[in-house]
Amino acid sequence: MLLNPFLQVLPSTLGLFDLNEDTEMSDQSSSGSSSTRAPSHQDLEVMSMGAAHAVVPLSECPHLHQVEPLPPTGINAASTCTECTIGAEVWTCLTCYKYNCGRFVNEHALMHHLNSSHPMALSMADLSVWCYPCEAYVHNPVLIPAKSAAHQSKFGEQMPS
Ligand SMILES: [Zn+2]
Ligand SMILES: [Zn+2]
Ligand SMILES: [Zn+2]
Repeated sequence: MLLNPFLQVLPSTLGLFDLNEDTEMSDQSSSGSSSTRAPSHQDLEVMSMGAAHAVVPLSECPHLHQVEPLPPTGINAASTCTECTIGAEVWTCLTCYKYNCGRFVNEHALMHHLNSSHPMALSMADLSVWCYPCEAYVHNPVLIPAKSAAHQSKFGEQMPS
């Protein structure tokens, strides 16, 4: 009768492998925890600056002198785009008072600016004024007659001051 010598060796070999695996796993978990990183102070500062920049309109811009007085017909906030007749997201040019749709419709307000160089437009949706050359919202006393005429047309009452 011959004993198989491997039957004696095998259990101790498995035990050795188990031991190696344990030490490897503990190494991995310690290096993993040291590589995690909380957001730095610098990251947070950049994020908050970006948000503040987006919401505050300019109080002055070099194109305000191109805003013309209201036409005798005033402003009709229910106007549709003169190019495509779509009534969503309509802007009126503050130089010639033509009505055009916004960039999420057919971009006729942008095209009007590019074709005419008229710089500023008033939104019939939220009564904000956008200056194309400045790429910014602008709020200035010069714009109040147009804003209040649009408010009167849209809501049937005067704009609160
Ligand atoms: Zn249009
Ligand atoms: Zn115009
Ligand atoms: Zn401007």
